[in-house]
Amino acid sequence: MKQVTHFINGAFTPVSSGPKGEIFDPATGQVSGTVDFASKEVVDQAVESAAKAFIEWRKTSLAKRSQVLFAFRELLNAKKEELAAIITAEHGKVLSDALGEVTRGLEVVEFACGIPHLLKGAYSESVSTGIDSYSIRQPLGVAAIISPFNFPAMVPMWFFPIAIGAGNTVVIKPSEKDPSSTNFVAALWKEAGLPDGVFNVVHGDKVAVDALIDHPKVKSLSFVGSTPIAKYIYENGTKNGKRVQALGGAKNHMLVLPDADLELAADAAVNAGFGSAGERCMAISVLVAVEPVADSIIEKISARMSKLSTGDGRKGSDMGPLVTRVHRDKVASYIDKGVAEGARLVVDGRNPNVNGESNGFWLGPTLFDNVKPSMSIYQDEIFGPVLSVVRVASYEEGMALIEAHQYGNGVAIFTNDGGAARRFQNEVQVGMVGINVPIPVPTAYYSFGGWKNSLFGDTHAHGTEGVHFFTRGKVVTSRWLDPSHGGINLGFPQNR
Ligand code: NAD
Repeated sequence: MKQVTHFINGAFTPVSSGPKGEIFDPATGQVSGTVDFASKEVVDQAVESAAKAFIEWRKTSLAKRSQVLFAFRELLNAKKEELAAIITAEHGKVLSDALGEVTRGLEVVEFACGIPHLLKGAYSESVSTGIDSYSIRQPLGVAAIISPFNFPAMVPMWFFPIAIGAGNTVVIKPSEKDPSSTNFVAALWKEAGLPDGVFNVVHGDKVAVDALIDHPKVKSLSFVGSTPIAKYIYENGTKNGKRVQALGGAKNHMLVLPDADLELAADAAVNAGFGSAGERCMAISVLVAVEPVADSIIEKISARMSKLSTGDGRKGSDMGPLVTRVHRDKVASYIDKGVAEGARLVVDGRNPNVNGESNGFWLGPTLFDNVKPSMSIYQDEIFGPVLSVVRVASYEEGMALIEAHQYGNGVAIFTNDGGAARRFQNEVQVGMVGINVPIPVPTAYYSFGGWKNSLFGDTHAHGTEGVHFFTRGKVVTSRWLDPSHGGINLGFPQNR
């Protein structure tokens, strides 16, 4: 049985007493280890270590910082299969998917390796006679990152490479459901030569999160998780004077127009609906079929679903288990609700044929037709392998649905009409848009983030917005003595 513990000031620091959580192997249903939960005192220790390390790290040259980032990139790349296996063992997603998330995280590390360029300011000579002006961006201090279970490697990497590259120090609180990958990453940072205290990990639950929100030395909070907690973090973090970006839940629509390539659209709906067992914030969970395409696309999707295998992610299945039994049962209860609410259950995943042990947290891919906007399976984020088809008569009716929904994370349109796609990208009230692309996750040099209840705060993750989030701007106006420009002048400075 593994015991996962905190990483503070460059060392794993087990605590002898206090609460712990259980870690499961979702494919067997067995407990595979425990994770220490941090008390307020442990969080304080981690933040103090980060605050102390900040004093030197922020002064460390850009050349040295990018060398450490590059060394970290090399180590991570060399060990990505090992990290993927750790993710699969605790999250359940299939190995190829776990490797995919590590690769997308690596891209942010690669982006951050260019931090010397990203932090460059501007310089204007002679803004007034004898006076120059220039801008610089400086780190904030201790950055806290609180991450969800569904991307235990990639989501933290949306933030910490940029935070560290920009000269901040980090305390991360990973999900207690799959905490090991963050400790693996912590050891890689140490091997890469990152000074002790720059990257710290505290494990735990609300107690640890509240301690981070309340700690006066924590200057920023980057949160990813469900919408109620995102709202809580945003409201309390900003009340405490911190800079906050809090990414929340999602319900991503895929609008299929009558002229779409239905084979492509059916492939996309299955890949984006059931990949990672639907536990992705960018999963497609609603297919909006503009008539007359519904019957045809449902047939094509069902045919593809019948070929999907569900089983242990280490054994070559298409879809793994859900993360915990509680979550599996919650998703299954939505299938019960959908039936009770009158939707047509086309494919029922509640008793799947499984290539794996019977106690695993299994749920097969599920498809509903005739879903109405009033139903809870349409309104709520289910976060499992459940795809709902809503039939609409027109593009406008489909757009009105998307507009009215509380979430605005990702969205996709499938069409062969460039004009329709262009109108869609301009009108839709959603942060990340795909055109014949079902999971439009922006690359590292663009920024990731939704609208409406999918994000609280002004700044999205990574890309230039990430650099802005982890730095503060300063503008310097300087004059070096020129005897000809002395003298008294009490007027407001004007450029001459
Ligand atoms: P979650 O909200 O349950 O947990 C997220 C983090 O918050 C974890 O570290 C958890 O320990 C902590 N937490 C849980 N309850 C808390 C409480 N009461 N007070 C303070 N902290 C608390 O989310 P999850 O189940 O781990 O992840 C799934 C959710 O994350 C989904 O809603 C999904 O859409 C969302 N998500 C969003 C994005 C995005 O980019 N918008 C990306 C990934 C996941």
